[in-house]
Amino acid sequence: MTGTRDPLEQLRSALAGVPWSEEAARLTDDELLAAMGALEAVGRLVDASRVAFAGEVAERSRVELGDQRLSTRRGCRSAAELIERVTLVSGAEARRRIALGGATRARFGFTGEPLAPEFPRIAAALAAGELGADAAGTIIRELGRARPVADPAVFAAAEQALVAEATGGGDGGPVRCTADELRVQAQAWSVFLDQDGREPDDERAMRRRGFRLGRARDGLIPVTGELMPEVAAKLTRLFDAHLAPRSGGGFMTDEERSRIAEFGETRTADQQRHDVLAAAIDTAARSGEHPMIGGAAPTVLVSVRASDIESGRGVAHADGVEVPISHRAARHMMCTGGTQKVVFDDDGRIITLGSPERCFTPHQRRAITLRDGGCLIPGCSVAAAWCEIHHVIPDADGGPTHPDNGVLLCWFHHRTIDTSGWGIRMLRGVPQIRPPAWLDPGGGWRPVTKSPTRLADQHDRRPAA
Ligand SMILES: [Zn+2]
Repeated sequence: MTGTRDPLEQLRSALAGVPWSEEAARLTDDELLAAMGALEAVGRLVDASRVAFAGEVAERSRVELGDQRLSTRRGCRSAAELIERVTLVSGAEARRRIALGGATRARFGFTGEPLAPEFPRIAAALAAGELGADAAGTIIRELGRARPVADPAVFAAAEQALVAEATGGGDGGPVRCTADELRVQAQAWSVFLDQDGREPDDERAMRRRGFRLGRARDGLIPVTGELMPEVAAKLTRLFDAHLAPRSGGGFMTDEERSRIAEFGETRTADQQRHDVLAAAIDTAARSGEHPMIGGAAPTVLVSVRASDIESGRGVAHADGVEVPISHRAARHMMCTGGTQKVVFDDDGRIITLGSPERCFTPHQRRAITLRDGGCLIPGCSVAAAWCEIHHVIPDADGGPTHPDNGVLLCWFHHRTIDTSGWGIRMLRGVPQIRPPAWLDPGGGWRPVTKSPTRLADQHDRRPAA
């Protein structure tokens, strides 16, 4: 042990006593830069030994050793933790050293015969103090991606070329690359080596794909994930199809239409995409092509307390989401269907268990679609297939689940129908709408439809001007 320790101790004491800032301030420009380069050369050698030691610690802590792992014997969960504790570096740095140490240390075959390191040229340049640890790590990371698919001879040539770029090649020729320049070169080599790169990329993407609902924050559920490109393409198409402005508003005059255009769309693009997703989920849920749960279409349980319903305060809970939802949201969900209401008393006893079947049937939906044609709110372009059916007289007030009491509204206009100021009523089974006062002061009720058949019919009956 003294063989290693003595020179390290000498080096340490030689460096420790020097007042480096004063020394640097004293030097001329040329001296300063020369000294900085020389110091870095020492640092590279120190780095190489750090990496070698980390690699050795990791080797002695390899999983196959079980209880005999060095890390386990020292009470650590991993080699990285042991290195962190001994050296006081960060976990990331410890793992970086282990990776570099593993890729550049000598290996042994099954019968104990010595094998070259995984990256022999990098190992040699590192040990010689010609290549820095960050440059070495960059080459290994970039080339390593292409290793499984690269021709071994070409791979070796790439490693050789990159080490030469980094170290100047030893023949005094080219200017040495910085670590950042080297990364660009290494990426170019990686693409060259991975000629069929699309496929491994695709496999990587398949492994990394994901979609997550996060923990609730501020009453919202964050969504994160990584979509496969083709899924993102379809989703983008879906958004585009719904968000493309279309002419709407059957009965409206040009003036009304321009006022809607001015004030009608209050949502941001993000909010509109959210609403498209809401409609897509709803459409999928009622398509009947999804797995049944307990023999029935997926039903969301919405639980509320009876006293909260009476007071109009408090909150409701939707099964499967940890944050409470507002009573308005609960009413919206129950109006749309696909939900089952559970009412508790203050002691927690279930006092009402709503029926989950209070949805409009596909037959009723088709009839309503033919009559209404799309979201009834003028200026809204959401098509019938993407709409929800709104009970004009709420189910709770005795409104029947019948086409004469159901109209098409998109998710957004349904969700905001209580507050937006739009009025909807049914007159002998035909929907009528009354614009909010800000849009049409003193305006009255008028029939409304987006149905091409009924619009044509209205034109036929309109007296010629
Ligand atoms: Zn709408």
